[in-house]
Amino acid sequence: MQFEVTILGSNAAIPAHGRFPSAQVLNYNGEVFLIDCGEGSQFRMNDFSIKRARLNNIFISHLHGDHYYGLIGLLNSFHLNWRENPLHIYGPSGLEEIVNVHLKHSRTELRYKIHFHPIVADVPTIVYDDNTLTVETIILNHRLPTTGYLFKEKKYLRKILADKILQYEIPHNLINEIKAGADFTDNTGKIIPNQELTVDSVPPRSYAYCSDTCYTENFVEQIRGVNLLYHEATFVHEHEARAMETFHTTSKQAGNIARLAEVDKLIVGHFSARYANLDTLLSETREVFADSYLAIEGTTFAIESSVAV
Ligand SMILES: [Zn+2]
Ligand SMILES: [Zn+2]
Repeated sequence: MQFEVTILGSNAAIPAHGRFPSAQVLNYNGEVFLIDCGEGSQFRMNDFSIKRARLNNIFISHLHGDHYYGLIGLLNSFHLNWRENPLHIYGPSGLEEIVNVHLKHSRTELRYKIHFHPIVADVPTIVYDDNTLTVETIILNHRLPTTGYLFKEKKYLRKILADKILQYEIPHNLINEIKAGADFTDNTGKIIPNQELTVDSVPPRSYAYCSDTCYTENFVEQIRGVNLLYHEATFVHEHEARAMETFHTTSKQAGNIARLAEVDKLIVGHFSARYANLDTLLSETREVFADSYLAIEGTTFAIESSVAV
């Protein structure tokens, strides 16, 4: 199953040095999830050939403009492109009012329905749940109510062994039950335990998106062991005081969260416009957590299980 994230925008506050404000696209087996939608996100989707037909869910972390100013344009393009499928938007409660005021004053009646899912940033909550994935909020500490999002794959069914199907002549209609953990009773009445018929499947994978926040360890337990963590690192460590003032994080602090949470891999982003060159920011992060990468726009990171099966 494809599970990967593509960086559309990586800069903080204002576009600079060719970098766009925050936005990412998560692809789970062809289903597209947009996480934040900074200004210019739809240009970036065109640049990186992101297909919008299966984009049905948009998650906004908070209402600073660098995280959602691209949303109105994208919603309007969906309308002009004759979108009919409903769209779900998850974000702070003020977002519905903001969108509606744009639509009202431009006298736009959308051709599709938007379902707003207002998020309260006080306790982690599952806001999305389908057959394969859940998304829960991560409570961050920023100047406005802000939530990150934790995408978790559901546990796969166990794998049934082909030679056991033949050996015990297991009928086709019982295979799903056995994959779900049931034993099998053969036609002589003998019970074959599930452990003999199946093996465990690959472990479910997970991705955590954490932007924007000051340094806090409050959510470390919630994201423990994720396969891929995106954490903001707006500043190099020399500017730690500025990071504290503005409720942002430094390179080393982001690395420290990854280390404490024992994640597999870290992406840092939300870079301050003061840095044209990000080499120091990356090397500082790697001093604390070696498997760290910059959120370079256009890069796709696979969300992979670290456990060999
Ligand atoms: Zn921001
Ligand atoms: Zn912010």
